[in-house]
Amino acid sequence: MREAYLDNAATMKKHLDAINSEADFYRKINANPLRGLYKKSVQATTGVNEAREAVLKLVHADKSYTVIFSRGTTEAINMVANGLLLRDDGFGVVNRDAKVVIDIESHHSNILPWKQRYSKVLISKDLNKDIRGAKVVSLTGVSNVTGQNFLKRIREVRRTLPKAILGVDGAQMVGHVDFDITRLGADFVAFSGHKFGAPMGIGGLVIKRELAEKLRPFNYGGEMVDAVSLDGEPTYSAIPERLEAGTLSVGAIFGLSAAIKVLDFDKNEHAERLAKMAATELRKIRGVKVLVSNGLIVTFQVKDVHPHDVAQILADDGVCVRAGYLCAQPYLEYKGWGPVVRASFSNYNDKSDVKALVKAVSKVRKKMGLE
Ligand code: PMP
Repeated sequence: MREAYLDNAATMKKHLDAINSEADFYRKINANPLRGLYKKSVQATTGVNEAREAVLKLVHADKSYTVIFSRGTTEAINMVANGLLLRDDGFGVVNRDAKVVIDIESHHSNILPWKQRYSKVLISKDLNKDIRGAKVVSLTGVSNVTGQNFLKRIREVRRTLPKAILGVDGAQMVGHVDFDITRLGADFVAFSGHKFGAPMGIGGLVIKRELAEKLRPFNYGGEMVDAVSLDGEPTYSAIPERLEAGTLSVGAIFGLSAAIKVLDFDKNEHAERLAKMAATELRKIRGVKVLVSNGLIVTFQVKDVHPHDVAQILADDGVCVRAGYLCAQPYLEYKGWGPVVRASFSNYNDKSDVKALVKAVSKVRKKMGLE
């Protein structure tokens, strides 16, 4: 059975160059970066530095930004939320009761890292009204539920609040939208490589150096200290290493570089056209409600059928979609939608995937004995 992979917003298929690049690192280099003085270690270090440069270039960052690697967006936002909190260890910027504002469209990964650490987190349904007095604002770049792009809104927030710490959950944006972080005015953007063809387990923060200097490290250990004595305080490495304790996912970092190299924003048009076509065709099916569709995403429900049943029936026909709350339960509840089904497209999809989706969805109600 042919597979129609339409769960690209969850994770994209990996580009062959990225897979090969990761495998080649382990086959041919396989050394720790930073500390080794032998040739392969130097090659690993060079590769990591090149990947940092590639990420900075991808988002058009100027010299005021740096890259901190993490496992992905979730870890990156946790790194900031943890690092910003003032304690008596010399790190941090804001108190636990500082006003933190996030948008209602937020993924759980932009909700819980804040909610778990700060006492005044406002999940805003109206940013214009709510951002006043905010010390930290962390916003969705592109929604994984609606496909909406919020770049304009983020720029407006920056204009209104020139001094606040402004962050962006870029999981669905980095590698998909060609944006300029400097012009956006964001202090940090979190991203995941696996959302745009790089291996899983690598992502990070593009962050203002000045802010990164103030962050408390998330992890303490090797690679992030210069000197450790029997007693007394250790002296920490400079940024970015200070925030990257332990051995990095170097193979994945090599894969990330390769994935960035083959990115082609012009090809998004093709995927967007497919999503539009899918939305149009799904709307024609009796009992199907397309709730929203933008960019690469079509979110819908089938009348009287739980989204998990829809996804299972589609899976039986080789159509891979995501169903449930899409890790954005507050938003889905706010909209009064509850759980949904999401089809999400990428450059390698084609019309036959749309056809397979539409055909499988058109059979759902009958298969459930409702027609
Ligand atoms: N934010 C958004 C908008 C997402 O779509 C996702 C992935 N579903 C994340 C954050 C979390 O990304 P990761 O699991 O790679 O950390």
